[in-house]
Amino acid sequence: MNAVEPVERNVVILGSGPAGLTAALYSARANLNPLVLKGVDAGGQLMLTTEVENFPGFPDAVLGPDLMERMEKQAGRFDAELLHQAATRVDLSSEPFSVWSGDQQWLARTLIITTGASARWLGIPGEEKLRGRGVSSCATCDGFFFRGRDLVVVGGGDSAMEEAIFLTRFATKVTVVHRRGELRASKIMQDRAFANDKLEFVWDSAVEEVLGDDTVNGVAVKNVKTGESSTIEAAGMFVAIGHTPNTELFEGQLDLEQGYIVVNEPTTRTSRDGVFAAGDVVDHMYRQAITAAGTGCQAAIDAERYLEAKGH
Ligand code: NAP
Repeated sequence: MNAVEPVERNVVILGSGPAGLTAALYSARANLNPLVLKGVDAGGQLMLTTEVENFPGFPDAVLGPDLMERMEKQAGRFDAELLHQAATRVDLSSEPFSVWSGDQQWLARTLIITTGASARWLGIPGEEKLRGRGVSSCATCDGFFFRGRDLVVVGGGDSAMEEAIFLTRFATKVTVVHRRGELRASKIMQDRAFANDKLEFVWDSAVEEVLGDDTVNGVAVKNVKTGESSTIEAAGMFVAIGHTPNTELFEGQLDLEQGYIVVNEPTTRTSRDGVFAAGDVVDHMYRQAITAAGTGCQAAIDAERYLEAKGH
């Protein structure tokens, strides 16, 4: 038996990053009284960043967590209901859709999925064992603990450069290990990274093992071109090799492609009528806060039109 009787909602939004909170803002302003289940990592990936310099409207930059706090306040001002809960199960087989968080169930006339993406790991020996003890995917969360130490960052994209540059505030030296001979990061981030004299690069190399018993004391690296092995001494390894979309809940219920939810572009309609998706859970190409917010807006408008067409 359910602890609470199911409540039918016009719009249920899963996730509270820029896509989810923008969808909440728009559907709240359309008087749809949306329910937002904020998820395990409320606020999404911007909670793990420092300065956001490329969100329009903030000429002097804005801190990621501050931006998310503002978005949440703005959605709340228009009667979006935000709960600190994560969906643990969904049933999209018939309308209204069912969403559960543990025992609690909601019925949703429309569902907007903005569950985002999570950091990817290397899957090498020592990595899991030493996670939280020198292995991290969040420089802004853990960088502080490495004042005066040497660190390794793995990856060659914008995230890796951002993490590496941020970590030079604390570390004596940061070594970026990248599997190719050139970076994927944008020109501006590359220029900043190359201009930072605390940053060093180890090219064409893969980290094969994280070394250390209780805490990290180094990483074993192999040059993928020469086959040569070496050790880099470091107190921490930060992994920044991209993300995996959070779509486990929807497997077998929605069309997915490489884990991402497939939408009928240019709309946010998924393979199930009445279910919409926006943000990084859909987007493997742009993955920006502003594009997530933009598609969140689209999803809210799509949901509103769907409800209207259904006579709700
Ligand atoms: P990304 O651009 O996909 O880069 C991932 C990096 O990790 C690549 O260099 C990739 O190598 C490497 N990699 C992937 N799997 C690996 C593995 N198993 N072992 C070793 N290396 C591996 O991801 P991202 O850096 O997280 O960026 C995602 C998106 O967010 C991008 O669109 C980016 O522009 C954006 N972003 C922007 C900013 C900013 O503007 N300040 C900051 C952060 C993120 P290869 O290069 O060989 O593929």
